Amino acid sequence: MSQPSASPSPFRVIDLIRKKRDGGALSSAEIGYLVEGCTDGSIPDYQMAAWLMAVVLRGMTREETAALTDAMLHSGEVLDLSFLPAKKVDKHSTGGVGDKTSLVLAPLIAAGGLFVPMISGRGLGHTGGTLDKLESIPGFRVDLAVPEFHRVLKACGCSMIGQTEKVAPADRKLYALRDVTGTVESPYLICASIMSKKLAEGTDALVLDVKTGSGAFMKKEEDAVFLAELMVEIGERMGKQMAALITDMNEPLGRMVGNALEVQECIEVLHAGGPADLRDLCLDLSAWMFFLGGATKTVAQGKQRAEEIITSGKAFERFRQMIEMQGGDISVIDDPSRLPSAEHRVDVSSLQAGYVTSIACEQVGTACVILGGGRERKEDSIDPAVGIVVHKKIGDIVSVGEALCTIHCHSDAQGARAKQLLQESYQISSVPPARKQPLIHRVIYKGEY
Ligand code: URA
Repeated sequence: MSQPSASPSPFRVIDLIRKKRDGGALSSAEIGYLVEGCTDGSIPDYQMAAWLMAVVLRGMTREETAALTDAMLHSGEVLDLSFLPAKKVDKHSTGGVGDKTSLVLAPLIAAGGLFVPMISGRGLGHTGGTLDKLESIPGFRVDLAVPEFHRVLKACGCSMIGQTEKVAPADRKLYALRDVTGTVESPYLICASIMSKKLAEGTDALVLDVKTGSGAFMKKEEDAVFLAELMVEIGERMGKQMAALITDMNEPLGRMVGNALEVQECIEVLHAGGPADLRDLCLDLSAWMFFLGGATKTVAQGKQRAEEIITSGKAFERFRQMIEMQGGDISVIDDPSRLPSAEHRVDVSSLQAGYVTSIACEQVGTACVILGGGRERKEDSIDPAVGIVVHKKIGDIVSVGEALCTIHCHSDAQGARAKQLLQESYQISSVPPARKQPLIHRVIYKGEY
């Protein structure tokens, strides 16, 4: 008598690849089958890669994007934070240069009575990463196990960690494949990748900071808006309170670019100082987090609450508490001059007099990577001390020989390539720029606020 065979596969992968190649829409069951097979290794990489390329070329419907996000989210652990006695809120940024708001937002929102379970990433390409910035604080641990993450969250209202092995493992596999097969650039795949990880945190509400401009991944505003609308819709379908701000990334945010320098600037904001653009964006994002988390009735009230919390010193106290609970040396928080710093300074001087009309912001991020503040290869380690202090931004007047920015590095030789790149990044003209872009280009939210 023959043995009963294992239950046959419900689908043939080649049929699913062909269906997408020819512009068809896959069902949730078909997408779930692909994601499961990718995660457990039963579908080979070459078939997944072919399907990913078909998605890049043919796109996805909203239903398919929701099904992909859901399947990726449930490929691993979904945190249950229902034991926390208030709403959980988070913010996700699509990445920029000098984009450091998370370090201010998490303690600020926690001091306002909501919980912030923040699972963050590392630098990607020319953009910095929250985990790399936090690790410039000696001793700070981003690799907390879930019970420890819970403990910190419960005690101080916020905790900032890296993605664990168990969160959205399908994304880990798919992202690695996309990275080497030219399939990163699809709004549908980006949406599912980001949202699956963020939803696995167990958050109730999510504010998206979608960057656009010369230092963003989405250089064109219409692309940023498309991605933002997609992510908002997918989050809402999954029962989350969602909003997206399309924000300007045509110049670095704040004045500091580089890991320890950015921590220093965040501490200034937490002490009610710091550059106006960084402070304003932190207040606007906080306002939305309070509003979506139900802590205030309007966004304007949320902003007022955020301002009061910063001024009272409570946000700084929360930050200090979180750093201490995650093993960080709080003496550097109390005295930021103790943060890692590079002794050598190289000024990048203007060769022309006039107005700064534009900055090739991606190049500023790349200059920081070249200095060692980011990674050229995955296995590279980060130098927390190096970076760039930006003195001149769009619309500023500059004279010949005046410093546009200052490089923090370990030697002239190390700073030379970055210096050339930075000098080339600035456009100076005798005519002032027509109009500086506002910090917030657009808000994507369906209701009244
Ligand atoms: N960040 C992610 O996490 N995923 C993407 O696909 C792109 C950026």
